[in-house]
Amino acid sequence: MNNCLFCKIIAGDIPSTKVYEDEKVYAFRDINPQAPTHVLVIPKQHVTGMSGIDEADDATLAACLRACKKVAELEGLTENGFRVVSNCGDHACQSVHHLHFHVLGGHQLTENMA
Ligand code: AMP
Repeated sequence: MNNCLFCKIIAGDIPSTKVYEDEKVYAFRDINPQAPTHVLVIPKQHVTGMSGIDEADDATLAACLRACKKVAELEGLTENGFRVVSNCGDHACQSVHHLHFHVLGGHQLTENMA
């Protein structure tokens, strides 16, 4: 999508620090990390967010969640644990309207989810 920040990152038009990539997914470090490890996992196909998905996106979603686990392994998070978050819409403060999963870890995360 033309004006989408994350589509530009996938295309290489905006620089990013790659952590993982496969046919369907790209993962890179968040520019404003909220934890020692903060990686964004995004589908290469543009999807606006959780509210924009349907059955046609099942394979994309599965690839994203598998990639979250892969990122956690690559970043050494699986032993102590990690969190996966996807913000959707205004109340969740979604700021980039391309589906993404935050993979957070590397220290004790708080119990407060909201
Ligand atoms: P959200 O607020 O859930 O939509 O998450 C968007 C995330 O994208 C935020 O955590 C931002 O820090 C991150 N972000 C914005 N621009 C960039 C960029 N150029 N490179 C890496 N992460 C970015």
